[in-house]
Parts: sequence; C-alpha cells; structure tokens
Amino acid sequence: MLGLATVAVVAVTTPWRALPPSAPHVVPDPARDFTPAEIARAAAFDAATTAPVYLSLGLTLLFAGLLVLTPFGARLLGRLRGPWWMRVVLGVLLLTALVEAVRWPLGMWAESELRAYGLSTQDWAAWSADRIKGIGVDAAVLALAMVVVVGLARKVRRWWIPAAVGAFALTVALSFVYPVVVEPLFNDFRPMPQGALRTSLLEMAARDGVPVEDVLVADASRRTTALNAYVSGFGATRRIVVYDTLLRGPVPQVELVVAHELGHAKNGDVLDGTLVGALGAAAGTALLYLAFQLVRRRTGVASAADPRAVAVLVGLMSLATVLSGPALNLVSRHVEARADVHALDLTKDPATFVAMQKRLAITNISDLSPDAVEYALFASHPSTPERIALARAWARLNGVPAP
Ligand SMILES: [Zn+2]
Repeated sequence: MLGLATVAVVAVTTPWRALPPSAPHVVPDPARDFTPAEIARAAAFDAATTAPVYLSLGLTLLFAGLLVLTPFGARLLGRLRGPWWMRVVLGVLLLTALVEAVRWPLGMWAESELRAYGLSTQDWAAWSADRIKGIGVDAAVLALAMVVVVGLARKVRRWWIPAAVGAFALTVALSFVYPVVVEPLFNDFRPMPQGALRTSLLEMAARDGVPVEDVLVADASRRTTALNAYVSGFGATRRIVVYDTLLRGPVPQVELVVAHELGHAKNGDVLDGTLVGALGAAAGTALLYLAFQLVRRRTGVASAADPRAVAVLVGLMSLATVLSGPALNLVSRHVEARADVHALDLTKDPATFVAMQKRLAITNISDLSPDAVEYALFASHPSTPERIALARAWARLNGVPAP
C-alpha cells in the first residue's frame, strides 16, 4: 500500500511534459553547439572516470550481495561484544570501514582524473577531510536508523509499522535541517555582497513572485572549478545557493542559473521531493521487513532483534538504494526540465540560456552523449544537448528568435 501511495504521488507530482504537446520537437545534437575538440575532450574525460565509478558500484553490489545471501555478515558482527545498542553502532562502523577500505582507493583514482582535467582544486588533506566528514554523516544517520529498528524489533513483533513512521519522520527532518546542519560542514556560505548583481537577482525573484531574502554564495572554489547552483531545505531553512565559481562569468548567465533555481523554489520541488522520499522511505521499511523474512535462513540471523541483523539490513538498504536510482533520476530529469522552462519563461532569453549551458558543459566537462546505462544510473539532469534542444523548442513555440 505504501509502495502504491509512493508511485501515485510520483505520478501526480512529476511534470511529465515540460512543454505543451504543440511545441516543436528539436533533436538534441552535440555537433551543432560543440567543436569536435570539445566533444572529444568530454568523451575522453568520461572514459577516464567511468572505470573507478563502475568498479565502486560493482563492489558495493558485491558486498551487499555477500551480506544478504550468506552468513558472512552475521559471523563478522558476531565477534562484537557489549550491550545490544553498542553492538548495533559498532556493527555499522565496522561495515562502513570495510566498504570504505575498498572504495577509498577508487575515490583517489577518480579524484586524480579530476585533477588531470583541472576540475579539482583540492589537495589530498582537504579531499580526505571532505570524504571522512561525508562518511561520518552517513554512518551517524545509518547508526541512528539501525538502533531504532533493532530496538523496535526487540519490543514489538510488527516492528515495521513504527519503523516506517520513523523513516518518514527522519527523512522529513533531515531534509529540513540539511542546509543548516550538514552543508556548513563542507562549505562556508556568505550572503551575496551588495551590488548590481544581488539587486538584479532579488528583483527577478520579486518579479517571479518567489519570496527570497538572500542568495547565498558557497566557497566551492576551494574544492572545484565546476559551476553549479542549487536550492535546498524548505520553509524556514529554504535557501538558494550559487557557487562562487559561477560569479566569475557574465551577469546574464548568472541570472539564468538563478532563474532555474527560482523555478525549483516556486514549484516547491524540494518539499515534493522530500515528501516522495519520505513515503518511499516508509515503503522501503516495509519492504525491508519482507525481504528480511526471505533471507533470514541464508544469513543465519533469525530476527531483526538480533544486533547481527544490522549486516543483513544494511546490505538490503544498499541494494534498494542502487535499484531505486534509475527511477529517482528519471523523475529528477523531468523536474529539471520544468525548472529550465521556468527560467526561459522568466527571462525570455533562450540565447543566453544556450550560452550558459555551453559554458556549464565545457567548464564541468559534462558528458555530451551519455550512453543508456550511464544516463539511467547517474543522470539527474537532462544532457546538455537535450537542454539546449528544449530551449530551441521553447523559442520556436514562443516566436522568439532561436539561438
Ligand atoms: Zn535544477
């Protein structure tokens, strides 16, 4: 039932069509906007980063399979001593350390490719600090969730009911506090300095009917040369953030990026995404209960009340995360296309939109022609040629000269 509810909410809230059916169809074509050298560089960068990314994914699946289909995890966590909650927390830390021991060198491989292409501005100390903080946040959330699940299973037989409620609440709470608790661990955020750019951005937000008190600038340049902006949080914690790297470019392009983010804010995309995520987490908890019953025998853990069950639960959650990725990306790409149309509606400037997309793609070395598997697994946004084609279709639909 929870799964059906999640699917129904996704079906209703996802903007399946960015433009009306009468809009002309423009075929995405990288060769129209990018030189052969730019296309070759993007393909070479893609080829260089593919191996570590797929290896990391493959090892994650392999480890999860080992935890879910064999008694390996139960034997490993069986060595831990102490009260049940301490064994749960130590179990999470042990599993995290094992996975990371394998992933760390692959992460270093990927990072050295970023450096070879001039995308990373970090040294190894800063890179390691970032990674350790990220792992720490994930492990802390996972340990909390596991203590709650095992604790509930020790008290009630149908633990999945209160656990599903808890998963829903935890997802909403995390999304709300994320911008003020987690993001500051990684970046400094300062209000955009007074000046013509800030004034014009806030004017545009007012014209759009989106109440924005400030645009924050993140010191992303200490990590990357890539350009980006995003909206996070909702209600009192909602914020629009632009990378400091973006501000080095032409003002109209910054306005276009912010116009896209205003689209997310105006459509309540973060809140929608949070509610879908929370429903999905509740449905996932029920599924976790069912899947656990299926693999109990194989793993040698009879009940979720046993602290060793953490190995099985973590393995199942890891599989669910990978398997749900393509569906999340599919929805995300439609939400992103709507924000692009919002930016075009607000600025009525498809020429700058196309220029901005080109600059983003060249600076970030975006994949200009992702293959079907990459697209499904990793693409949270439409590809650059698709976004440019959308702008051209918008221009023809609205009788504006197409760039
Ligand atoms: Zn977006």
